[in-house]
Amino acid sequence: MSSIRLFSISGMDVKVHYSLFIVIAFLTWIFNVQSYPYGFKGMEFGIFLSFLASLSLFIAVFLHELGHSFLSIRMGYPVREIVLFIFGGVSVLEKHPKGIDEVKVSVAGPSVSFFIALIFYIASQSQIFLLKEFSEVFYRINLIIGIFNLLPAFPLDGGRILRGLMAERIGFTKATSISAEIGKGMAIFMAIFGLIYNLWLTFIAIFIYLGASEEEKLSRIESVLERLKVGEIMTEDVKTVSKDMSVEEFISFAFKNKHLGYPVVENEKLVGIVTLHDVVSKGKETRIGDVMKRDVVVLSPDDPSIKAFRIMNETGLGRIPVVREGRIVGIISKTDLLRLMEIEEVLKLGRK
Ligand SMILES: [Zn+2]
Repeated sequence: MSSIRLFSISGMDVKVHYSLFIVIAFLTWIFNVQSYPYGFKGMEFGIFLSFLASLSLFIAVFLHELGHSFLSIRMGYPVREIVLFIFGGVSVLEKHPKGIDEVKVSVAGPSVSFFIALIFYIASQSQIFLLKEFSEVFYRINLIIGIFNLLPAFPLDGGRILRGLMAERIGFTKATSISAEIGKGMAIFMAIFGLIYNLWLTFIAIFIYLGASEEEKLSRIESVLERLKVGEIMTEDVKTVSKDMSVEEFISFAFKNKHLGYPVVENEKLVGIVTLHDVVSKGKETRIGDVMKRDVVVLSPDDPSIKAFRIMNETGLGRIPVVREGRIVGIISKTDLLRLMEIEEVLKLGRK
């Protein structure tokens, strides 16, 4: 994703998506044309207050996201990064809380927003020049963020709360598909409503709809991959290369076998991995042993295949060797996982 890293907090990388800079400019404009107390139209220092409000809004959204993340970490679900973008943020979790844990983590964000709203509500009662005006607008915005996020439109926080509650009774996968359907339904309603009253709503609705579909797909993949072990779905016939092969030989080998990367094996033991990218700028006579990568991510045949899926998503690796006691026994690729999903879809249709 095209985002830049700002800083790191409690082991999480905080990144901003490029779109955010455009959004800040755009929000400044919105604050500047909306009438008080939802904006600073025609007011003294209006532009300054508008800019300050959009910047603060960005910080408020970040704090909202931190609320989710901190609780999530404390409950034992590590958060790798927070990406702030157009309508707020996404926390990238390594393992997702489910059931009542998801309810708690989801409530944490809106709680932070309500807390910020409360602080600025108190500040708005002061008579201090500009602080009063700023706080009047800013507490309302945070109140709206808190309430809006509690709408049961999955994947908004409210939808996650709904899923968490349902998951306790009917299981995670079913709860996801029901809340995703509700989320999509609400998004369609919102989009139509927005076409009549406020295009902003339509715009947000599209994001909710896409988000709901995406999460639904992910949870389906998870439910299938959690049941199957790597050993059950790996390709057992692995094409390997030797350390002594030359780059020239390797390239013709790759042409024949049509994969980008190959495990390197010596005396039946895995010693490295080599991809076409590693050899492109190397001389023809260079040995594979000199260009291969030695630290190889491997899986055991007993690992659940969801682990393969997670590693591929996190690292961008397309193929992972499967190893038992140092010996390579198979390989698992992204294509294998996708085919598996197709097979599962067909079987599911057959069962209906
Ligand atoms: Zn949230």
